[in-house]
Amino acid sequence: MVITEKCCNFAAGNVKNALSAKGKRGKKSVSETNCHITMERTLVLLKPSTVMRGLIGEVTSRFEKKGLRIVGMKMLQLNDEILNEHYAHLVGKPFFPALKASMMRTPVIAMCLEGTDAIEVVRFITGYTNGRKAEPGTIRGDYCMSNQQNIVHASDSPTSAAIEIKRFFKAEELFDFGDLNMDRLYSVDLS
Ligand code: UDP
Ligand code: MG
Repeated sequence: MVITEKCCNFAAGNVKNALSAKGKRGKKSVSETNCHITMERTLVLLKPSTVMRGLIGEVTSRFEKKGLRIVGMKMLQLNDEILNEHYAHLVGKPFFPALKASMMRTPVIAMCLEGTDAIEVVRFITGYTNGRKAEPGTIRGDYCMSNQQNIVHASDSPTSAAIEIKRFFKAEELFDFGDLNMDRLYSVDLS
């Protein structure tokens, strides 16, 4: 597919407008530019298991090589309050206290990644929760052997992505920049 000038404009500068027009579900439609590529953002945490094992670069590079763009990134120490909120769906599970302790053992790296269908793509390359059952080739499948020390957190839906990005990043910590080689990474899916 030849990326039209309008799409190139999208890559070069219109992302910002498209992003500010994003819908409730966090998908950014750029149909006003006649380009049907949609961009999405998702939240990834590199867990203490990644930090302690010196895998920050390796795991980050998997996302970058896939074609996801890092639009926000920082190191931070998690605490009880943020973990109770972040893992609210797991409060009461027998492993919850151990999970929280493992998430506070070292600082984590928080990343906001952008790309077409980024939420689904990131979950797919992250792999199944338990590293022993995750497919080889996925991050968890290649780098871990347990449920708890499973390298990354990745948002599981557009609703959680929107909430989780806000939980970890202020608006001014996220960036829109337009020099990605859109025509080498993306194409319109024609069915
Ligand atoms: N977890 C755990 N034991 C379990 C299930 C989950 O320690 O039996 C941890 C694991 O680190 C997982 C996190 O809780 O990543 C969040 O669980 P969730 O079901 O949301 O899995 P995920 O979305 O991370 O794959
Ligand atoms: Mg989850």
